[in-house]
Amino acid sequence: MDIPVLHRLALNESPFPPLPSVREAMRAAVAEAHRYPQFHPDDLTERIAAWCRVPPARVAVGSGSVGVALQLLHAVVERGDSMVYAWRTFDAYPLLASMVGARSITVPLSPDGRQDLPALLAALDHRTRVVVLCNPHNPTGSLITADDLVDFLRRVPPHVTVLLDEAYVEFARDTRLPDALALLDAHPGLLVLRTFSKAYGLAALRVGYGIGSPDLVARVRRQQLPFGVNSVASAAVEASLRAGDELERRVESVTAERERLRRQLVTLGWRIRPSHTNSLWLAAPDPVEDGAAALAAAGVQARHYPGEGIRLTVGSREANDAVRTALAAVGRDRMSGGDAVSVARSGGVVRA
Ligand code: PMP
Repeated sequence: MDIPVLHRLALNESPFPPLPSVREAMRAAVAEAHRYPQFHPDDLTERIAAWCRVPPARVAVGSGSVGVALQLLHAVVERGDSMVYAWRTFDAYPLLASMVGARSITVPLSPDGRQDLPALLAALDHRTRVVVLCNPHNPTGSLITADDLVDFLRRVPPHVTVLLDEAYVEFARDTRLPDALALLDAHPGLLVLRTFSKAYGLAALRVGYGIGSPDLVARVRRQQLPFGVNSVASAAVEASLRAGDELERRVESVTAERERLRRQLVTLGWRIRPSHTNSLWLAAPDPVEDGAAALAAAGVQARHYPGEGIRLTVGSREANDAVRTALAAVGRDRMSGGDAVSVARSGGVVRA
């Protein structure tokens, strides 16, 4: 019997629907839906640039951060070039590489779930055009510190563009978090990628942006689809920028829930490292297969990487409590050294 999904915790989405002010802005934009949006999203680019306190010439806005990443690859990669990144990472990177005919060179994560920066550097050669760093990392939630990032950037050869994916940066509270925008002047080959999909809760609307040197940004913008950012999305983003304080409080509540859930699961015996994203990473050799089955049986949709781990998005308090209850049986059983609990398998765990 299929178990209904009660809690969607598989895609690192925000648990909060759009704010009333954002909905109102979207409603107003819908009334104008017979009109084209701007050919290129110049107004939105200016707003985002002002909000980030950088000149507009440093910002490229696109269809989600994944859209901006593809624009960058189109701009700098020739068929047969290589793209280097840690694995695991965000699933789109291998797809984007194949879309532009790049060879993917992957470097395993270190056992504690961090991107192995020396090994990534060692993987760069004369055919490498792009190296991707994800900070904080998806799916493990690990952090590259400012010191390590600065050292890495110093060692990257100038023919390699660094795509620094900061999709989750708003959830990072660690003082060692790099100030990536402060590094742009010294590193013209750096593009910092951000999104309104995660902390700002607008995943359906597909708005992301890259910040980099004016030269690199100009090349990225040349790959922009005309009329590619729709008016409803632009209106929602502009309204979100006006509601920064309210959204910041939402982010605070997600990070507080992240810490609460982590403490609870650690108490149950799960060995979960600190996370700097809106998700927790439950890793083998903890009993992740049984954990995935228990979550599915409880109607919790999580992201299961068979044999590797579970990425569990931090949800509402109710969803997180459902997670704790589902995983309690597995954790208790493991701590007592007994066999894993037997729970019904269902299709509730997303594997895509
Ligand atoms: N980067 C990372 C690391 C992600 O996890 C995701 C989404 N899961 C994205 C980028 C894509 O975000 P967007 O919705 O902005 O395309």
